Amino acid sequence: MATVEQQPAPAADGIRVENPATGEVIATVPVASAEDVRVIVARARAAQPAWEALGFDGRAKVLRRAQKWVVDNADRIVETIVSETGKTYDDAVINEIGYAATAFGFWAKHAPRYLADEKVRSSSPFVLGRKLVVRYRPLGVIGVIGPWNYPLTNSFGDCIPALAAGNAVVLKPSEVTPLTSQLMAGAMRECGLPEDVLIVATGDGATGAALVDEVDMVMFTGSTRTGKKIMERAAQTLTPVSLELGGKDPMIVLADADLERASSAAAYYSMQNAGQTCISVERVYVEEPIYDQFVDRVTRKVAALRQGVSTGPGTVDVGAMTFPPQLDIVSRHVEQARDAGARVLTGGVVHTDGGSFYEPTVLVDVDHSMACMTEETFGPTVPIMKVADAEEAVRLANDSEYGLAASVWTKDAARGEEIARRVEAGVVCVNDAQLNYLALELPMGGWKSSGMGSRHAAGGIRKYCRQQSLLVTRFAPPKGDLQFYPFRAGRTKLIGKAVKLLYGRGKRD
Ligand code: NAD
Repeated sequence: MATVEQQPAPAADGIRVENPATGEVIATVPVASAEDVRVIVARARAAQPAWEALGFDGRAKVLRRAQKWVVDNADRIVETIVSETGKTYDDAVINEIGYAATAFGFWAKHAPRYLADEKVRSSSPFVLGRKLVVRYRPLGVIGVIGPWNYPLTNSFGDCIPALAAGNAVVLKPSEVTPLTSQLMAGAMRECGLPEDVLIVATGDGATGAALVDEVDMVMFTGSTRTGKKIMERAAQTLTPVSLELGGKDPMIVLADADLERASSAAAYYSMQNAGQTCISVERVYVEEPIYDQFVDRVTRKVAALRQGVSTGPGTVDVGAMTFPPQLDIVSRHVEQARDAGARVLTGGVVHTDGGSFYEPTVLVDVDHSMACMTEETFGPTVPIMKVADAEEAVRLANDSEYGLAASVWTKDAARGEEIARRVEAGVVCVNDAQLNYLALELPMGGWKSSGMGSRHAAGGIRKYCRQQSLLVTRFAPPKGDLQFYPFRAGRTKLIGKAVKLLYGRGKRD
């Protein structure tokens, strides 16, 4: 994956932001130093209590206004996203505006329920008659560190539940794509978010590292390599982290799959956003009886895709590589596979005239000795492998350090679900892929090297909170409970007998 060493070098006057589809420099943003980060976090910390005191209703008002702002200003946001990522208008509308508009409303509505006090019943006789409650309090200042592939969905999107919970947020967007975050910070102020409750600190890896030292919790989305560094650094201050990392998502196509739908989905979910989606289809396993037909259809569909500079909706299907050094990783995977005997049925070519493009590519005759089947490619490639049966497909799908998402394709949905349950991934779709991301009621998080923690659903907001348990005793014997001092043999024996009576009866096997 992209490494820190590969990130753009800061110019003396800041980081130059390029449009990767045209090569044009479109802005320069400052690099926040460690001292700047300290000051920024202190400002956010000072602003947080008043934001928390507004309560769910007060905060929801701001979030709902922001939802409307996103819809009303969609064109402006899309222009910004397209200019800094080189993605298509269509990808920006569907997967960024579509997500943000949903997320603001979702968290405004569900935060009170997910974070409401929970009354708890206990089976322990020791706490009989006591009131037991679990409650959630915001942690304080959350540091959100984001990647370059989805500046609105993946960087800014994770700020929304953190804010809904009553935290202040300092957002460190990728140095490759900082402009959408800046635009959204302005939008939030326009929508009534109090000053300093959300601050964008632009900068590079060092800025991100400094943020880890200062905040109360880190929400990180990015490569597994950086995720490990963040966890190591956060350990010094025992700061909790939530890590959404890389993936190598398998697609399993069974012999009874709907060929037309499965081949269209393989083309779309591998090439959408030029393959730069953490949950894109990165490798495909197809049962032998339909392998040739499947490969034919996918190749025709991928070869027909239009690639280039997106100048409006529907103008091209596949955009640029957002981070130009990513071209080297994609090229290495394809070349290495080719050298080892794989065939490139379409694509396999880099275009750097003006922008940074990699042609949509179909690879066959691949196996697990090749990086294109084991390492995250994060580009517009789809390697397809023939398997004898579903058992082999599951075994190969699980033969990976990653476990982010996966999909199974079959007309027999029940069998598909059975197979899905055996795949080692945080999300598995049957006859679909990626769609789970838009259902915020469903948790989404990686297994193995794909991360820890999750976003969306109750866990996606509770992680931004301290959990507090309350035990309230209203009525109790004034002279004390049975277990109080001084210990008396009779009472201890009585307790022992009660424990035996409660938990010691009955056969076990
Ligand atoms: P990256 O790890 O290179 O950078 C991510 C962010 O971390 C950037 O803002 C960067 O400045 C910052 N950073 C770099 N070094 C740091 C350090 N030492 N301490 C703190 N912050 C540091 O990732 P990327 O190349 O921008 O993004 C692509 C990766 O993100 C892919 O692996 C992709 O799969 C992953 N991703 C995962 C998800 C998910 O939900 N699981 C979503 C989107 C992207």
